[in-house]
Amino acid sequence: MNSRIQQILDKAVDKNSLSKEEIIAVLLCESSHNDVLFRAADLVRKRHVGDAVHLRGIIEFSNYCRRHCSYCGLRCANKDLQRYRMTPDAIYQAALDAAALGYRTIVLQSGEDLFFDADTVAALVRRLKKLGVAVTLSLGERTYEEYRLWRKAGADRYLLKHETADPVLYQKLHPDANQAGRLDCLSWLRELGYQVGSGCMVGLPGQTAEMLAADLLLLKELDVEMAGIGPFIPHPSTPLAEAAAGTAEMTLRMVALARLLLPLAHLPATTALATIDGYGRTKALSCGANVVMLNVTPLEYRSMYEIYPNKNRADSTPAAARRQFEELLAGLGRPVAEDVGHSPKSKFQRTVS
Ligand code: SF4
Repeated sequence: MNSRIQQILDKAVDKNSLSKEEIIAVLLCESSHNDVLFRAADLVRKRHVGDAVHLRGIIEFSNYCRRHCSYCGLRCANKDLQRYRMTPDAIYQAALDAAALGYRTIVLQSGEDLFFDADTVAALVRRLKKLGVAVTLSLGERTYEEYRLWRKAGADRYLLKHETADPVLYQKLHPDANQAGRLDCLSWLRELGYQVGSGCMVGLPGQTAEMLAADLLLLKELDVEMAGIGPFIPHPSTPLAEAAAGTAEMTLRMVALARLLLPLAHLPATTALATIDGYGRTKALSCGANVVMLNVTPLEYRSMYEIYPNKNRADSTPAAARRQFEELLAGLGRPVAEDVGHSPKSKFQRTVS
Protein backbone atom coordinates (compact mmCIF):
# COMPACT_ATOMS: atom_id res chain seq x y z
CA MET A 1 0.00 0.00 0.00
CA ASN A 2 1.31 3.39 -1.03
CA SER A 3 1.51 5.29 2.24
CA ARG A 4 0.37 8.55 0.63
CA ILE A 5 -2.92 6.92 -0.48
CA GLN A 6 -3.33 5.39 2.96
CA GLN A 7 -2.80 8.78 4.58
CA ILE A 8 -5.35 10.39 2.28
CA LEU A 9 -7.92 7.71 3.03
CA ASP A 10 -7.29 7.94 6.77
CA LYS A 11 -7.88 11.68 6.57
CA ALA A 12 -11.06 11.19 4.52
CA VAL A 13 -12.50 8.68 7.00
CA ASP A 14 -11.62 10.96 9.89
CA LYS A 15 -12.57 14.38 8.52
CA ASN A 16 -14.80 13.69 5.48
CA SER A 17 -12.81 16.26 3.62
CA LEU A 18 -10.11 16.13 0.95
CA SER A 19 -8.33 18.65 -1.25
CA LYS A 20 -8.65 18.51 -5.01
CA GLU A 21 -5.10 17.18 -5.29
CA GLU A 22 -5.84 14.40 -2.80
CA ILE A 23 -8.99 13.37 -4.67
CA ILE A 24 -7.05 13.28 -7.93
CA ALA A 25 -4.36 11.11 -6.32
CA VAL A 26 -7.02 8.58 -5.29
CA LEU A 27 -8.74 8.66 -8.68
CA LEU A 28 -5.44 7.97 -10.42
CA CYS A 29 -3.96 5.45 -8.00
CA GLU A 30 -3.27 1.87 -9.02
CA SER A 31 -6.08 -0.67 -9.03
CA SER A 32 -4.36 -2.53 -6.21
CA HIS A 33 -5.63 0.26 -3.92
CA ASN A 34 -9.28 -0.32 -4.75
CA ASP A 35 -9.86 -2.71 -1.87
CA VAL A 36 -8.68 -0.30 0.77
CA LEU A 37 -10.59 2.60 -0.81
CA PHE A 38 -13.80 0.62 -1.03
CA ARG A 39 -13.44 -0.69 2.53
CA ALA A 40 -12.94 2.84 3.83
CA ALA A 41 -16.10 4.01 2.05
CA ASP A 42 -18.03 1.01 3.34
CA LEU A 43 -16.93 1.81 6.87
CA VAL A 44 -18.09 5.43 6.56
CA ARG A 45 -21.40 4.28 5.04
CA LYS A 46 -22.00 1.89 7.92
CA ARG A 47 -21.01 4.45 10.52
CA HIS A 48 -23.15 7.32 9.21
CA VAL A 49 -26.17 5.86 7.41
CA GLY A 50 -26.21 2.25 8.60
CA ASP A 51 -26.84 -0.99 6.74
CA ALA A 52 -30.38 -0.39 5.50
CA VAL A 53 -30.88 0.05 1.77
CA HIS A 54 -33.61 2.39 0.57
CA LEU A 55 -35.59 1.07 -2.36
CA ARG A 56 -37.22 3.78 -4.47
CA GLY A 57 -39.82 3.07 -7.13
CA ILE A 58 -39.20 5.11 -10.27
CA ILE A 59 -41.89 5.88 -12.85
CA GLU A 60 -40.54 7.15 -16.17
CA PHE A 61 -43.73 8.73 -17.38
CA SER A 62 -42.72 10.65 -20.53
CA ASN A 63 -39.78 10.32 -22.89
CA TYR A 64 -40.49 13.60 -24.68
CA CYS A 65 -37.73 16.13 -24.18
CA ARG A 66 -37.09 19.62 -25.46
CA ARG A 67 -33.31 19.44 -24.97
CA HIS A 68 -30.36 18.41 -27.15
CA CYS A 69 -27.96 16.92 -24.57
CA SER A 70 -25.40 15.25 -26.79
CA TYR A 71 -25.14 12.04 -24.74
CA CYS A 72 -28.82 11.25 -24.29
CA GLY A 73 -31.12 9.05 -26.37
CA LEU A 74 -34.14 11.14 -25.36
CA ARG A 75 -32.73 14.30 -26.97
CA CYS A 76 -35.40 15.88 -29.13
CA ALA A 77 -33.37 15.48 -32.32
CA ASN A 78 -33.48 11.68 -32.01
CA LYS A 79 -36.15 10.76 -34.52
CA ASP A 80 -35.47 7.01 -34.14
CA LEU A 81 -37.20 6.95 -30.77
CA GLN A 82 -40.88 6.20 -30.37
CA ARG A 83 -42.24 8.76 -27.91
CA TYR A 84 -44.81 8.18 -25.18
CA ARG A 85 -46.56 9.96 -22.38
CA MET A 86 -48.45 8.23 -19.60
CA THR A 87 -51.68 9.86 -18.46
CA PRO A 88 -51.89 11.21 -14.91
CA ASP A 89 -54.28 8.37 -14.08
CA ALA A 90 -51.83 5.76 -15.42
CA ILE A 91 -49.00 7.38 -13.44
CA TYR A 92 -51.13 7.34 -10.31
CA GLN A 93 -52.01 3.66 -10.86
CA ALA A 94 -48.32 2.75 -11.25
CA ALA A 95 -47.57 4.61 -8.01
CA LEU A 96 -50.46 2.91 -6.25
CA ASP A 97 -49.16 -0.50 -7.37
CA ALA A 98 -45.64 0.41 -6.25
CA ALA A 99 -46.87 1.56 -2.83
CA ALA A 100 -48.72 -1.77 -2.48
CA LEU A 101 -45.41 -3.56 -3.12
CA GLY A 102 -43.85 -1.67 -0.22
CA TYR A 103 -42.17 1.30 -1.90
CA ARG A 104 -42.08 4.28 0.45
CA THR A 105 -40.69 6.70 -2.13
CA ILE A 106 -42.01 7.29 -5.64
CA VAL A 107 -39.71 9.02 -8.10
CA LEU A 108 -41.42 10.70 -11.06
CA GLN A 109 -39.00 11.13 -13.92
CA SER A 110 -39.34 12.41 -17.49
CA GLY A 111 -37.51 14.31 -20.16
CA GLU A 112 -38.03 18.06 -20.06
CA ASP A 113 -41.60 17.77 -21.26
CA LEU A 114 -43.58 20.98 -20.89
CA PHE A 115 -46.76 19.10 -21.86
CA PHE A 116 -46.86 18.32 -18.14
CA ASP A 117 -47.49 21.85 -16.98
CA ALA A 118 -47.06 23.11 -13.44
CA ASP A 119 -50.67 22.52 -12.38
CA THR A 120 -50.82 18.98 -13.81
CA VAL A 121 -47.67 17.98 -11.93
CA ALA A 122 -48.85 19.68 -8.72
CA ALA A 123 -52.19 17.83 -8.87
CA LEU A 124 -50.34 14.55 -9.39
CA VAL A 125 -48.03 15.21 -6.45
CA ARG A 126 -51.04 15.91 -4.23
CA ARG A 127 -52.63 12.59 -5.27
CA LEU A 128 -49.43 10.66 -4.67
CA LYS A 129 -48.90 12.21 -1.23
CA LYS A 130 -52.23 10.75 -0.16
CA LEU A 131 -50.63 7.30 -0.59
CA GLY A 132 -48.34 8.13 2.34
CA VAL A 133 -45.18 8.02 0.22
CA ALA A 134 -42.33 10.46 -0.20
CA VAL A 135 -42.36 12.04 -3.65
CA THR A 136 -39.22 12.78 -5.62
CA LEU A 137 -39.42 14.76 -8.85
CA SER A 138 -36.87 14.56 -11.65
CA LEU A 139 -38.30 16.72 -14.41
CA GLY A 140 -35.28 18.80 -15.38
CA GLU A 141 -34.91 22.55 -15.45
CA ARG A 142 -38.14 24.40 -14.76
CA THR A 143 -38.96 27.83 -13.36
CA TYR A 144 -38.70 28.89 -9.73
CA GLU A 145 -42.47 29.29 -9.63
CA GLU A 146 -43.02 25.73 -10.85
CA TYR A 147 -40.60 24.32 -8.29
CA ARG A 148 -42.35 26.36 -5.60
CA LEU A 149 -45.79 25.11 -6.61
CA TRP A 150 -44.67 21.46 -6.57
CA ARG A 151 -42.97 21.84 -3.23
CA LYS A 152 -46.12 23.39 -1.85
CA ALA A 153 -48.11 20.46 -3.29
CA GLY A 154 -45.96 18.17 -1.13
CA ALA A 155 -42.98 17.13 -3.26
CA ASP A 156 -40.18 16.17 -0.87
CA ARG A 157 -37.15 15.82 -3.10
CA TYR A 158 -35.84 16.88 -6.48
CA LEU A 159 -33.14 15.26 -8.59
CA LEU A 160 -31.21 17.46 -10.98
CA LYS A 161 -27.77 16.17 -11.88
CA HIS A 162 -25.15 18.79 -12.52
CA GLU A 163 -23.74 16.24 -15.06
CA THR A 164 -20.23 17.78 -15.10
CA ALA A 165 -18.74 20.58 -13.04
CA ASP A 166 -16.42 21.60 -15.84
CA PRO A 167 -17.95 24.63 -17.59
CA VAL A 168 -16.31 24.00 -20.99
CA LEU A 169 -17.30 20.33 -21.08
CA TYR A 170 -20.77 21.25 -19.84
CA GLN A 171 -21.25 23.64 -22.74
CA LYS A 172 -20.05 21.07 -25.27
CA LEU A 173 -22.50 18.48 -23.98
CA HIS A 174 -25.42 20.90 -23.63
CA PRO A 175 -25.42 23.17 -26.67
CA ASP A 176 -28.85 24.62 -25.82
CA ALA A 177 -28.31 25.13 -22.09
CA ASN A 178 -25.82 26.71 -19.74
CA GLN A 179 -24.25 25.67 -16.51
CA ALA A 180 -25.18 28.87 -14.68
CA GLY A 181 -28.86 28.17 -15.35
CA ARG A 182 -28.49 24.65 -14.01
CA LEU A 183 -26.77 25.86 -10.85
CA ASP A 184 -29.49 28.49 -10.39
CA CYS A 185 -32.10 25.71 -10.46
CA LEU A 186 -30.14 23.78 -7.82
CA SER A 187 -29.98 26.82 -5.57
CA TRP A 188 -33.72 27.48 -5.98
CA LEU A 189 -34.47 23.88 -5.01
CA ARG A 190 -32.34 24.29 -1.93
CA GLU A 191 -34.03 27.58 -1.04
CA LEU A 192 -37.46 25.97 -1.39
CA GLY A 193 -36.60 23.26 1.11
CA TYR A 194 -36.39 20.27 -1.19
CA GLN A 195 -34.02 17.45 -0.36
CA VAL A 196 -31.72 18.03 -3.28
CA GLY A 197 -30.18 15.32 -5.40
CA SER A 198 -27.52 16.00 -7.98
CA GLY A 199 -24.74 14.00 -9.59
CA CYS A 200 -22.53 13.45 -12.58
CA MET A 201 -21.42 11.07 -15.29
CA VAL A 202 -18.05 9.34 -15.27
CA GLY A 203 -16.00 8.74 -18.41
CA LEU A 204 -17.38 11.51 -20.60
CA PRO A 205 -15.30 12.24 -23.70
CA GLY A 206 -12.56 14.68 -22.74
CA GLN A 207 -13.21 14.34 -19.00
CA THR A 208 -10.09 14.34 -16.80
CA ALA A 209 -9.42 13.26 -13.22
CA GLU A 210 -9.27 16.94 -12.33
CA MET A 211 -12.78 17.43 -13.69
CA LEU A 212 -14.04 14.43 -11.72
CA ALA A 213 -12.48 15.85 -8.57
CA ALA A 214 -14.32 19.10 -9.30
CA ASP A 215 -17.56 17.10 -9.57
CA LEU A 216 -17.06 15.69 -6.09
CA LEU A 217 -16.13 19.06 -4.64
CA LEU A 218 -19.19 20.64 -6.24
CA LEU A 219 -21.43 17.96 -4.70
CA LYS A 220 -19.86 18.75 -1.36
CA GLU A 221 -20.28 22.49 -1.85
CA LEU A 222 -23.93 21.98 -2.81
CA ASP A 223 -24.25 19.86 0.33
CA VAL A 224 -26.58 17.52 -1.55
CA GLU A 225 -28.85 15.05 0.14
CA MET A 226 -28.39 12.60 -2.75
CA ALA A 227 -25.64 12.09 -5.30
CA GLY A 228 -26.19 9.93 -8.37
CA ILE A 229 -22.92 8.90 -10.02
CA GLY A 230 -23.02 6.66 -13.06
CA PRO A 231 -20.86 5.84 -16.08
CA PHE A 232 -21.32 7.59 -19.40
CA ILE A 233 -22.73 5.07 -21.90
CA PRO A 234 -22.81 6.11 -25.57
CA HIS A 235 -26.13 5.97 -27.36
CA PRO A 236 -26.04 5.12 -31.08
CA SER A 237 -28.51 7.87 -32.06
CA THR A 238 -26.52 10.70 -30.52
CA PRO A 239 -23.48 12.75 -31.56
CA LEU A 240 -21.41 10.75 -29.05
CA ALA A 241 -22.28 7.39 -30.59
CA GLU A 242 -18.64 6.50 -31.27
CA ALA A 243 -17.23 7.61 -27.92
CA ALA A 244 -15.92 5.07 -25.42
CA ALA A 245 -18.05 4.33 -22.35
CA GLY A 246 -16.96 5.15 -18.82
CA THR A 247 -15.57 2.27 -16.78
CA ALA A 248 -17.11 0.52 -13.81
CA GLU A 249 -13.84 0.85 -11.90
CA MET A 250 -13.67 4.64 -12.14
CA THR A 251 -17.39 4.92 -11.36
CA LEU A 252 -16.93 2.83 -8.22
CA ARG A 253 -13.99 4.99 -7.16
CA MET A 254 -16.19 8.06 -7.57
CA VAL A 255 -18.99 6.47 -5.52
CA ALA A 256 -16.51 5.54 -2.79
CA LEU A 257 -15.03 9.03 -2.72
CA ALA A 258 -18.51 10.56 -2.65
CA ARG A 259 -19.28 8.49 0.44
CA LEU A 260 -16.06 9.61 2.10
CA LEU A 261 -16.81 13.27 1.38
CA LEU A 262 -20.58 13.19 1.95
CA PRO A 263 -21.09 10.76 4.81
CA LEU A 264 -24.80 11.48 5.26
CA ALA A 265 -25.82 11.57 1.60
CA HIS A 266 -28.01 8.99 -0.04
CA LEU A 267 -25.93 7.35 -2.77
CA PRO A 268 -27.70 5.18 -5.31
CA ALA A 269 -26.19 2.09 -6.87
CA THR A 270 -27.13 3.30 -10.33
CA THR A 271 -28.85 1.47 -13.16
CA ALA A 272 -26.17 2.76 -15.54
CA LEU A 273 -23.47 1.00 -13.52
CA ALA A 274 -25.55 -2.19 -13.50
CA THR A 275 -25.85 -1.87 -17.28
CA ILE A 276 -22.09 -1.97 -17.92
CA ASP A 277 -21.30 -4.41 -15.11
CA GLY A 278 -23.69 -7.21 -14.17
CA TYR A 279 -22.49 -6.98 -10.56
CA GLY A 280 -22.37 -3.19 -10.59
CA ARG A 281 -25.11 -2.66 -8.05
CA THR A 282 -23.66 -5.16 -5.59
CA LYS A 283 -20.25 -3.59 -5.97
CA ALA A 284 -21.59 -0.08 -5.44
CA LEU A 285 -23.48 -1.22 -2.33
CA SER A 286 -20.16 -2.52 -1.03
CA CYS A 287 -18.33 0.77 -1.47
CA GLY A 288 -20.69 3.40 -0.11
CA ALA A 289 -24.07 3.17 -1.85
CA ASN A 290 -27.24 2.82 0.21
CA VAL A 291 -30.07 3.43 -2.27
CA VAL A 292 -31.45 1.52 -5.25
CA MET A 293 -34.02 2.84 -7.66
CA LEU A 294 -36.11 0.07 -9.16
CA ASN A 295 -38.21 0.66 -12.23
CA VAL A 296 -41.96 0.47 -11.60
CA THR A 297 -42.94 1.91 -14.98
CA PRO A 298 -45.47 -0.32 -16.80
CA LEU A 299 -43.58 -2.77 -19.00
CA GLU A 300 -44.94 -1.47 -22.31
CA TYR A 301 -43.05 1.82 -21.90
CA ARG A 302 -39.75 0.57 -20.54
CA SER A 303 -37.77 0.08 -23.72
CA MET A 304 -38.72 3.55 -24.96
CA TYR A 305 -37.07 5.38 -22.05
CA GLU A 306 -33.71 4.79 -23.62
CA ILE A 307 -31.31 7.41 -22.28
CA TYR A 308 -28.57 4.92 -23.15
CA PRO A 309 -28.79 1.45 -24.77
CA ASN A 310 -30.02 -1.55 -22.77
CA LYS A 311 -31.08 0.65 -19.89
CA ASN A 312 -34.39 -0.93 -19.03
CA ARG A 313 -35.15 -4.59 -18.89
CA ALA A 314 -38.73 -5.04 -19.99
CA ASP A 315 -38.93 -8.65 -18.83
CA SER A 316 -39.19 -8.17 -15.11
CA THR A 317 -42.40 -6.94 -13.49
CA PRO A 318 -42.15 -4.49 -10.59
CA ALA A 319 -43.15 -7.27 -8.19
CA ALA A 320 -40.57 -9.73 -9.56
CA ALA A 321 -37.80 -7.13 -9.66
CA ARG A 322 -38.44 -6.14 -6.06
CA ARG A 323 -38.50 -9.74 -4.91
CA GLN A 324 -35.23 -10.46 -6.69
CA PHE A 325 -33.64 -7.42 -5.19
CA GLU A 326 -34.80 -8.19 -1.68
CA GLU A 327 -33.18 -11.63 -2.07
CA LEU A 328 -29.96 -10.06 -3.28
CA LEU A 329 -29.90 -7.68 -0.31
CA ALA A 330 -30.60 -10.51 2.10
CA GLY A 331 -27.56 -12.29 0.65
CA LEU A 332 -25.47 -9.20 1.35
CA GLY A 333 -26.80 -8.96 4.90
CA ARG A 334 -28.34 -5.57 4.13
CA PRO A 335 -31.94 -5.01 5.26
CA VAL A 336 -34.47 -3.08 3.21
CA ALA A 337 -35.19 0.24 4.92
CA GLU A 338 -38.72 0.46 6.27
CA ASP A 339 -38.96 4.21 6.64
CA VAL A 340 -39.59 6.70 3.81
CA GLY A 341 -35.88 7.35 3.61
CA HIS A 342 -35.68 11.09 4.03
CA SER A 343 -32.23 12.54 4.31
CA PRO A 344 -30.66 11.84 7.70
CA LYS A 345 -29.82 15.52 7.87
CA SER A 346 -32.22 17.04 10.37
CA LYS A 347 -33.26 20.20 8.63
CA PHE A 348 -36.01 18.76 6.43
CA GLN A 349 -39.74 18.75 6.54
CA ARG A 350 -40.09 22.49 6.71
CA THR A 351 -42.96 23.80 4.66
CA VAL A 352 -43.00 26.37 1.90
CA SER A 353 -45.35 29.31 1.68
S1 SF4 B 1 -30.42 14.34 -20.35
FE1 SF4 B 1 -32.48 14.95 -19.70
S2 SF4 B 1 -32.72 17.03 -20.52
FE2 SF4 B 1 -31.01 16.10 -21.64
S3 SF4 B 1 -31.94 15.21 -23.49
FE3 SF4 B 1 -31.88 13.59 -21.91
S4 SF4 B 1 -33.87 13.66 -20.90
FE4 SF4 B 1 -33.58 15.58 -22.03
